[in-house]
Amino acid sequence: MSGKILIVDKVSTNRIVLRVKMLAAKYDVEAVATCAEAAARIATDLPDLILINLTDPSEDGHSFCRTLRSDPDTGHIAIISVGATNSTMSRFGALDAGADDVLPRPISDSLLLARVRSLMRRRNLSRELQMRDGTNRNFGLEETRAPRIAPAAITLLSDCPNAAAARTMQLQTGMNQRIRVSTSDCALIDDDRAGKTDLFIIDGSTAHLSAGQLFRLVADLRARESTRLSAQLILLPRQHTETAAMLLDLGADDLILGDVTPDELMLRVRSLLRHKFNQDRLRDTLRDGFHAAMTDPLTGLYNRRYAETHLRQIAEKAHASGCHYGLMMIDIDHFKRINDGFGHTAGDRVLCGLADRLLQNFRPEDLVARIGGEEFLIAMPRTTLEEVKAAAQRLRRLVNIRPFPIGDGNNDLHVTISVGVAVDSQKPDELTSLGDLFKRADAALYVAKANGRDAISVSQTAARHCREALALPLKRQNGAPLN
Ligand code: GH3
Ligand code: MG
Ligand code: MG
Repeated sequence: MSGKILIVDKVSTNRIVLRVKMLAAKYDVEAVATCAEAAARIATDLPDLILINLTDPSEDGHSFCRTLRSDPDTGHIAIISVGATNSTMSRFGALDAGADDVLPRPISDSLLLARVRSLMRRRNLSRELQMRDGTNRNFGLEETRAPRIAPAAITLLSDCPNAAAARTMQLQTGMNQRIRVSTSDCALIDDDRAGKTDLFIIDGSTAHLSAGQLFRLVADLRARESTRLSAQLILLPRQHTETAAMLLDLGADDLILGDVTPDELMLRVRSLLRHKFNQDRLRDTLRDGFHAAMTDPLTGLYNRRYAETHLRQIAEKAHASGCHYGLMMIDIDHFKRINDGFGHTAGDRVLCGLADRLLQNFRPEDLVARIGGEEFLIAMPRTTLEEVKAAAQRLRRLVNIRPFPIGDGNNDLHVTISVGVAVDSQKPDELTSLGDLFKRADAALYVAKANGRDAISVSQTAARHCREALALPLKRQNGAPLN
């Protein structure tokens, strides 16, 4: 089954008709007569969507909806009011109580089913984001982001200048906020501005946009990177139910058929923005979580886990393109003495200071990662052995030449590093596996340490592969920089 629907209606024929329609659309359906029965059912089995007759005077459906909305466990259930009457008052009352939409009888089957599908889609997306957010928090990766407080960016799309002016007035009366106005063409071209739009209100109520143009516009906005996450509310003439159904299926979030009061418009806009901001917040939280999983919290550099994955990509690309790539293994010399002599915080400051220097001195495409306590890895795509050697020497000098601030009234501290270098030869008969290259860089680092530290050392195998002169060890003498 693609979703659970609960029908709440005192009139049994209404229940039966709706049930048959929903079963035919392959939903899992329950039907009850009263709000009390519905509450009991929801307590044991949460539905995804409720179809409820909110115009029944013998039931306080509004407070039932309000209770659902105020409970975090049930607040996300989609609600469609399928009432007998369709007055401005009754629509406003239902929306104000928390209904996502109001469909008056006689109900258009295609519109009802399209509405159910669009709300199910939104519900499934929210549930997926929430689940991933929960997983992130279980991993202790990141706190959930605070709700957004910046004002919403709303763009009215209208191809009729006179109607646009009147519509803007109406929107501003209801919402008390600035509305940007654009044409349908501009919305698709002007990516920068459109990208900042939280909600598009598309005015299809004049004859300036045909059904075909509306379909393309809605689908286009959904497909483009800069607008795909913006909410969409479409205004249509009352009788255009088939167009409305199609627009919902193409990705519109909400639709108003016929005239609308500023109050109802405001409610619908607020509801759409609430959902949009909630999903934005969950997405941002997820992104933060991924970032936290990939980076080292002290220095902000990539961590070992990320480095291993990214290195595989660099290696695969290098093998596919036949270019060299180089590895540098960096270790701070006698780092333990810094901790022992000046404290752990001073050690941390040196680590952060070195991370900054690494970031400032390598290209954006180079991978700079902290892979252990005072150990760093740099991978340089499309780089020859000579270039990696030169970069390693430059880096060693950069560290040696300028002492590191360690705070707490201490003088800046002279720090040195040792670097092991290895480069993939890229000769078809001598292709180096990533693991081997890693080991070779590590072995070269060991040689640099053994040769007195503050030195760089090049993997002998790599050098031989490249038929280049061995430069082992490249060591600074008496403080004089190499090169
Ligand atoms: P070598 O020149 O041979 O590399 O000597 P070393 O002292 O740098 O190496 P050793 O492995 O003996 O010591 C590394 C020290 O780094 C030990 C550990 O406590 C410290 N360390 C590891 N992670 C951190 C960290 O995040 N912050 C600080 N302040 N110290 C750390
Ligand atoms: Mg070490
Ligand atoms: Mg060390």
